[in-house]
Amino acid sequence: MPRFSTVLVFLGPPGAGKGTQAARISTSLGVPAISTGEILRDAAKSGSELGKLVESVMASGQLVSDDLINRVVTERLHQEDCRFGFILDGYPRTVAQGGFLRTLLEELNLPEPVVFNFDLSIEKIVYRLGRRRQCGKCGGIFGVNRNAESIRCPQDGTLLVQRADDKPEAIRQRLEVYRATSADLIEFYRGRNYYEINASRKPEQIAEELLSLLSSPIHAGTARRQYVRTAVAHGIA
Ligand code: AMP
Repeated sequence: MPRFSTVLVFLGPPGAGKGTQAARISTSLGVPAISTGEILRDAAKSGSELGKLVESVMASGQLVSDDLINRVVTERLHQEDCRFGFILDGYPRTVAQGGFLRTLLEELNLPEPVVFNFDLSIEKIVYRLGRRRQCGKCGGIFGVNRNAESIRCPQDGTLLVQRADDKPEAIRQRLEVYRATSADLIEFYRGRNYYEINASRKPEQIAEELLSLLSSPIHAGTARRQYVRTAVAHGIA
């Protein structure tokens, strides 16, 4: 069955709910949610060469190099499940990565991204990140009471843990990195398929807004034109 392509980029500070929304709408749109942070965390857990390279940089809250993350993304976006698009959560994070992605999308015959910038106050970010815990098995993210210990994943019973980069010093560093890099990236995307999203609302309200923006005539039009290009490129038109 022929279908349209959808490329989404989620911008916004850590803790703004990008991962939650990516997981929610990925199923509705039928495209994978790709979190570069998750890819790197998995690599660190597995002890691979990539993992060894990035582990300490991630724990400190700094960004890994553009060159390295661009290579990781290139490999992931060439996989079969990406041929009709994807949701990028946590990439690009710099203007250099944004430029790299633009070229990569052209090579892959995919449309320019629709960009959602998740907006949340610093107070709410710090609050959310401080109580965030992750399941080591399924990767699920949960908000717990501040000093809660030994909370288990409601899905598979695995102990929830705090990510190394959700500890107070790393949070401070990540927000500083975000502050230093986000303005230029927003400028890079603003004005073209770019939307500011109020991320302080309930997840279901946000998901509804994203899907409704995507079904607007502007994007439907872009998708129809793009469909012809993608279908021809994949030999199915
Ligand atoms: P995240 O889960 O998106 O907050 O990412 C966790 C960490 O992975 C970041 O603090 C960075 O160290 C690294 N990382 C993830 N995505 C990128 C990216 N696009 N560029 C550079 N570093 C990244």
